[in-house]
Order: sequence, then C-alpha cells, then structure tokens
Amino acid sequence: MSINTFDQVNHFFDKTADRLQLDQGLRDIMKQPYRELRVQLPIRMDNGDIKVFTGYRVQHNGARGPYKGGVRYHPEADLEEVRALASLMTWKTALVDIPYGGAKGGVQVDPKLLSTDELNRLTRRYTQSIEHVIGPNRDIPAPDLGTHGQTMAWMMDAYGQLRGHTPAIVTGKPIAMGGSLGREAATGRGVTYILQAVTKDLAIDMKKARIVVQGFGNVGSWAARLIYESGGTITAVSGVDGGVFNSNGLDIGQLVEHSENTGRVSDFNGGQPISNQELLELDCDILIPAAIDNVIHKDNAANIKAAIILEGANHPTTPEADEILTARGVSVLPDILVNAGGVIVSYFEWTQNIQEFHWEEKRVNEELKKKILHAYYEVQNRANEHTITLREAAFEIGVQRVAEIVELRGFV
Ligand code: GLU
Repeated sequence: MSINTFDQVNHFFDKTADRLQLDQGLRDIMKQPYRELRVQLPIRMDNGDIKVFTGYRVQHNGARGPYKGGVRYHPEADLEEVRALASLMTWKTALVDIPYGGAKGGVQVDPKLLSTDELNRLTRRYTQSIEHVIGPNRDIPAPDLGTHGQTMAWMMDAYGQLRGHTPAIVTGKPIAMGGSLGREAATGRGVTYILQAVTKDLAIDMKKARIVVQGFGNVGSWAARLIYESGGTITAVSGVDGGVFNSNGLDIGQLVEHSENTGRVSDFNGGQPISNQELLELDCDILIPAAIDNVIHKDNAANIKAAIILEGANHPTTPEADEILTARGVSVLPDILVNAGGVIVSYFEWTQNIQEFHWEEKRVNEELKKKILHAYYEVQNRANEHTITLREAAFEIGVQRVAEIVELRGFV
C-alpha cells in the first residue's frame, strides 16, 4: 500500500487546527491547495523519439505573499506528493516568517536517465507550460531534489524569452546569473546552526556526539561538510547507492571528493559499506535524514537508536513513526524548521534581485543564522510552555500565522 504523504501532512495540520480551535471554514481554506496545474511535457529525445513526461505546479496557500517552493525531478513526484510538499512550504515560510506562501513543482522523471540536452528541453517545456501562473510577485520556483542551479538558469532563460529579463522569477540560480552567495550551502548550513543550538541547549558536546547523515545530495553533503568543519564526528553517511560507516568518524573532505569523482559514497575506502536501512538504525547520538520522504516509518521507528533526529529532508517521518519516537523520548526537530535555511536564503536572493544589489556571503550567513535560530527558540519556547512536541509547536506557529492573515484579508 502506498503511503499518501498529503494525508500525512494533513494529519499534522488537523491536530494543530484542533489545538488552535480553528473554525471549520478557515480549516477548509488552509488544508487544500488554492491551485493545481498538471501539464503534459512532450520532449524530443536525443535519439529522435518523442517521450511524454508529466509536470505539476501546486500553489497551496498565498495569504502571506507570493507562492514559493522548489521543483522536484523524481520518478515519484506525483500530484499527491507535490501537494504534500507544497503544504509543507506554506507552514515553513510562515514559521520562519518570510513573506511567502507555499508551493511546489515536480516532473515525474529520473533525471539521471536524461542527457543534459534532454533535461534542458524538458525544463524549458515545463517553464513555458507553467509560465502563466508564476512570476516574481506570484510564484517563485527554486531547486529541490533532482534540480540545481543549472535547472534554474534554464528556467530563468525560458521565462525571460517570454517576459523579458527577470532574475527574480527563480531562486537558487548560479551566482553569475544573479544567484546569491551562500544559497547552495544554505539548507545544510541551516541544519548545522540548528544542530549547534540543540546540542548546546541539551549540554551535549557536539564534538563527542556520533552523527549519522542519510543522503548525500545538496542538503546531506553540505550538512556533513559544515558539521565536519565545525569539529563534529560523522560516523556514517549514505547516498541512493548505499552508505559507508566508520566508528571513529569519516573524513568528510575526502568523501566529498570521492563522491564528486564517482557519484557514489558506498565504495569510499575510508569506512565499511552499510545499507540505507542499517544506517538509520545505527547506534548513534544524532540522526539527520536528509534524503527523501517517509524513510522513518512504523516498522523501523522502534529500532532507531539516536536520541535526537534533525529532519533535513521534507517529511522523512510518518505520523505513526512520529508517535513511536515521541513515546520513546526521542527529540525530533521537524523539517519545516530544520531545512528552512534553503528557502530563507532564497528570500535573500529574491530581495537582492529586486534591489539589483549583491550581499557578501558573510552577511547572507549571518542573516540566515539570525532568522533560523529565532524560529528555533520560538519553537522551543512554545513546546515548553504548552508541553507539546517540537513538531506540534512548529506547526502551531506556522498555521496560526497563516490563519491570522487569511482572516485579516477578509471574505465577502
Ligand atoms: N526546495 C527547498 C525546500 O524544500 C527550497 C525552496 C525554495 O528555496 O523556494 O525548502
């Protein structure tokens, strides 16, 4: 049975709405997306064949500002998953208090199976097909799983051909095209700031803690790198092909080099190979799932040994697993807080584009730290005051902020 991720996110939403005693009408507005677009994307492949892909853009809630969220290229990026991720963006942007709503896009494709030219054509076709619902004051896409700076460069170019030069149409662009310094590392850097804060609060020596990272894409690799550089010990890391473990700590500098050269982490000779499943259940202090959704579920939640989980990925923990972990006293720092660094620096990129001005990287990182830690302490305080979990507190803050503005806008 496939897991419906949108229902799961709405499980967290419904519980929050109950605690906040929201009116039914408000709940109905905030639960379902405002607009969902499904587009057919026929592409001429390099061998001359035509292949048809399916793309989506879901705009979940725009009460607080233009819709904002990444575009995912993944075989499982179907409408239901994109919807779930769009709603998470609504709560995330509200929680870290940046002036955006929530959206997400996706194309159901395995980008590893396409050539660079095919990906370029697919991205242009996708941009042309959604261009009437996006815009710098309407909806601003960004990278997500399977997309990166080059994808955003193609999107900006395709949009510019129709509407004129518009850097603020996408964030996460290459620096040379108006991207922000610090954006590429931002999600991993945000994870690192949260890790430093939570270990300090719990009086854990970050340098002695054994840290495990699942996923070595943009988020996982940058988090691992920055944690390692700040003196942390990372005992295991994994990619889609499997992972690598070393009880004395991995040399992340060498591992990054290995992964850049080979595209894999599993055959790195600085540790022993380990499966993704084994990695999640390893004896460690802190676990950072930074890959895909639903990896911690009811069948493995009881086996997780970590005392603290930092959700670098979007929705890595199912509601059933969340309950098991909470009952066991595991501290789960939720995705909408932990991985918000990416969209926070996207916001800085967008403001720089609008002002035609560039910030130094130091300023970007300092402002990111301020914003994400402010949200972290708000979540901690609310959780303590109301005796609720950190996820419940994070959802309460996000949902309440959106509800307030939906009401202020007024209905007729
Ligand atoms: N895809 C990232 C996320 O899930 C970043 C979104 C953005 O920068 O708009 O938060």
